[in-house]
Amino acid sequence: MGLGRWIRDKPAFLERAYQVSYATIKWLRPLILKLGFKRASRLILPVERFSKRLLFDCKMCGQCTLHETGMVCPMTCPKHLRNGACGGVRSNGNCEVIPEMRCVWVVAYERAQDMQIFGPEMISIKPPANHTLTNSSAWINKISELDQSAPKGWAEIPHNPVIEKKFLDEDS
Ligand code: SF4
Repeated sequence: MGLGRWIRDKPAFLERAYQVSYATIKWLRPLILKLGFKRASRLILPVERFSKRLLFDCKMCGQCTLHETGMVCPMTCPKHLRNGACGGVRSNGNCEVIPEMRCVWVVAYERAQDMQIFGPEMISIKPPANHTLTNSSAWINKISELDQSAPKGWAEIPHNPVIEKKFLDEDS
């Protein structure tokens, strides 16, 4: 079993790691602002791409929602659904499109049950991916708040109440 597959089964650990990563990026914010988003992105993007591909089979959507989806990447769903399962989940919990694969959303729901901090975020409404952000750094997009931009026709993404409680309160 590879490192990625092994660690994906540790959602409680992963949500802690996410918390630490987010705190680190926030700590680096002044430096990132000084460098400028473009230059900072050139440094952060390769690290982000390598680590998230290894750990989550990340598709670099640029708008990371892992903490809201049981630390399971919703872009690994063959239909790229970001707001819950389609109507075609098989009775054994497998995918309609790839029958031998577990439905990403079934796995996400199961893993969210083990997550004390971000698990409840599973029920938040998530718009589809904004494809203008594909292949950009989700961390830089979080700092610049570009990750709040929803695709055309969707309202802006509301600030996440759990994130606000855990992190943004510390800013005030
Ligand atoms: S949600 Fe986006 S950034 Fe996060 S792991 Fe999936 S593809 Fe990568």
